[in-house]
Amino acid sequence: MKKKLNLPMQILIALILGIVVGLVCYFAGLADFTTNFLKPFGDIFVNLLKFIVVPVVLLSMIDGILSMGDMKKVGSVGVKTVAYFMITTAVACVIGLALANIFNAAHLFPVLDASNAQYEAKEFGGFMATLVSIFPTNMWKSFTEANMLQVIVIALFFGGAIIAAGDRAKLTRDIVSSFYAVIEKLMTFIISLSPIGVFTYMAWVVATQGSEILVSLLLVIICAYLGYLVHAIVVYSFSARMFAGISPVKFFKGAFAAMIFAFTSTSSAATLPVSKECAAELGAEDDIAAFVLPLGSTINMDGTAIYQCVATVFLASCAGIQLTLGQMIVVVITATLASIGTAGTPGAGMIMLAMVLEALGIPVAYIGLIVAVDRIFDMGRTCLNVTGDIACSLCVSKWQRSEAGK
Ligand code: ASP
Repeated sequence: MKKKLNLPMQILIALILGIVVGLVCYFAGLADFTTNFLKPFGDIFVNLLKFIVVPVVLLSMIDGILSMGDMKKVGSVGVKTVAYFMITTAVACVIGLALANIFNAAHLFPVLDASNAQYEAKEFGGFMATLVSIFPTNMWKSFTEANMLQVIVIALFFGGAIIAAGDRAKLTRDIVSSFYAVIEKLMTFIISLSPIGVFTYMAWVVATQGSEILVSLLLVIICAYLGYLVHAIVVYSFSARMFAGISPVKFFKGAFAAMIFAFTSTSSAATLPVSKECAAELGAEDDIAAFVLPLGSTINMDGTAIYQCVATVFLASCAGIQLTLGQMIVVVITATLASIGTAGTPGAGMIMLAMVLEALGIPVAYIGLIVAVDRIFDMGRTCLNVTGDIACSLCVSKWQRSEAGK
């Protein structure tokens, strides 16, 4: 227990040490040292987190569904969760667009020459094809490819079927809870290593990203971070206070470990174990957090939505395009959908940005202009993504408690 409470402090110290060591290496010309000898330890740590992410999401969701006990409650929690995710993501888009337009109108964005920009976009098959692809044909493939949307569908089906099978599914039920207990132990161990991951990644980022490209894109980065900040302060403080009955200070203090962790790992999926601890400390119901957090780490990406809006306005301005009101509505819709489709892994939001640009007819190759600093954008957007998941688990817990008259 003592150790658990100390983790945020350890992570904070690791973060500060990482920045200091990163700066020293940067000025001493030792950036390669951080890439060759520090980053690999961060990579080992993130690999460990990724390796448990499929069982964590699968078992946590099935366990959450089984603890809720009936599919009616699962449905009611599911509807509230998805509504919260969609509304907050749409608000995030509006905030991102508003700020980007202010920066653009004030000529704060640099105008970069995009003629040599190169970026190979991934093909999107359209909305219906994406919908079909969420349903797996072979569940082992979903696991090995870590296709998290498919894993969620599998968890929903299995959870529902175990409940429907009643007593005859007792063995399966016991297997799920026993496996989950093992995975939780493993998770606790891996999380206890997180200061090492935070320290090594931070030192590497600081030592390697201090180049001219960062300076030239500084205002675009500032615009995105302002968006993250406004969203956190307005939307999450508001929902913590109004819906979950928690003071914003308490909320951010409680979510701190997951926020720092997300910031350095740039992966919502990898942060899931830490988010679960934070949500539990803040008073989220276990069964609800077990359902909401894995779902959120896969589909709820407010930070990604803000980034996609800011990047779209910026790249449009580089292409000499001024977005009309109609096009901005298209941005809100496509960025909301693109953020849902974004995997909770490093850099995924930039890949999905192509979908938004394509919808507006902006050359996807322009992503090449911002690819070098994506990690900087990604740190902030992942931090916000994870904070949103924790906020949602608290709000839905509170709504369910009030509904049950508790
Ligand atoms: N890295 C983000 C996350 O894991 C996704 C993104 O790239 O926007 O939440």
